[in-house]
Amino acid sequence: MSVGLSDELLAFEEAIRDFAARECGTAEQRRELGDGSSEGHNEALYRRLGELGWIGCCLPERYGGAGGGALEACVFLEQAALGRLPIGAASVSLIVAKAIEKFGTEEQKAEILGAACAGEPLAIAMSEPNAGSDVGALACRAVRDGDAYVVNGQKTWISHAQRATRILLVCRSDRSGSKHEGITMLLLDPKAPGVEVRPIDTLGGREVNDIFLEDVRIDAADLVGVEGAAWTQLMAGLNFERLVVAATMLGTGRRAFEDALAFVKEREQFGRPVGSFQALRHRIADLATELECTRLLVYSVARRTDANPGVQMPREASMAKLKATETAKRAAIEGMQMMGGYGYATEYDMEGHLRKAIVSTVYGGTSEIQRDIIGRSYGL
Ligand SMILES: Cc1cc2nc3c(=O)[nH]c(=O)nc-3n(C[C@H](O)[C@H](O)[C@H](O)COP(=O)(O)OP(=O)(O)OC[C@H]3O[C@@H](n4cnc5c(N)ncnc54)[C@H](O)[C@@H]3O)c2cc1C
Repeated sequence: MSVGLSDELLAFEEAIRDFAARECGTAEQRRELGDGSSEGHNEALYRRLGELGWIGCCLPERYGGAGGGALEACVFLEQAALGRLPIGAASVSLIVAKAIEKFGTEEQKAEILGAACAGEPLAIAMSEPNAGSDVGALACRAVRDGDAYVVNGQKTWISHAQRATRILLVCRSDRSGSKHEGITMLLLDPKAPGVEVRPIDTLGGREVNDIFLEDVRIDAADLVGVEGAAWTQLMAGLNFERLVVAATMLGTGRRAFEDALAFVKEREQFGRPVGSFQALRHRIADLATELECTRLLVYSVARRTDANPGVQMPREASMAKLKATETAKRAAIEGMQMMGGYGYATEYDMEGHLRKAIVSTVYGGTSEIQRDIIGRSYGL
């Protein structure tokens, strides 16, 4: 179903699709690039996408981007995930770049947006062992000392911190107010003395990390926006953040569907393709319908975000994130069931789709939290 993209965006979609088919169309190519492996991000390939100008599709031209917005980001991320391009760090890098675009100084924009467009991975560190869904409980401490902040604490679950050239660190600079006051954004150099990035082993491999910070000095010039105002700054980026996850998981969900469809057309039991049994045909029909609804929702929210850049849409942005991630998870679980034992084998892609999808309802705000936000928007 068409989501009403312009000719230019349709051409962009096609270019990404062609690139993905050429570069990682076969299982062997994907294995060589490391997709489905413990890394999920191929740095050389990501830089090539930077050279093509695709990563900066949603960033301003003066910093190396193409000047688009949320719509362009969604097209890029959906198609990249659909084509299985192993660029796991793209979403977080774009989230960081957008925060800098909104709140950074001119120097920060030149550095960080330029780096993002060129294909350098960036990371964002909010979560802590005792501050997950309750982000406002974060305790990592930043104390001003002359022309620097001295930071102590721990961050956890930080995606792609092991390869990030800069990390947007969200920490507490003042404890006197409410929990949403006194939070500050700083740009951290992960190679600075006192920083230790330690990988966490997960079902998805090594994509997340603990970060330990001990007396780390961060130059005051690396303050992003206003000291103590990071909560408001984070809220201002929520539409984009939710959409970035939604578009990526829409692509993954569509890929799980396409792989399952190809399999059930091909695989024969009882003398006929298994997809011709009504039990599977109806499943395919339901999934196709869910994915179309999801796609319409995601692109509609992207358009509204671009049309009203200053307006926060917590209800709609949460709906897009909730729907896309839950649908991708369902597509992968159903896909695995429809492929029988083959869906479980690492020789096929379905188990990788499942590993990607299953955690997407946790990061970026869990499904429970998204439902809470949506419910509250109705006055509950
Ligand atoms: C793969 C992965 C990548 C991640 N990447 C990043 C990153 O790059 N940067 C970053 O800062 N963080 C990152 N995170 C952290 C992620 O945002 C948190 O894991 C998430 O917000 C949930 O926090 P938690 O794991 O502490 O779970 P908890 O908050 O402890 O929640 C446990 C359970 O309780 C439920 N729950 C909690 N509060 C409520 C409530 N009020 N109402 C109803 N249910 C509730 C949750 O939905 C969940 O089911 C990542 C996590 C993962 C797994």
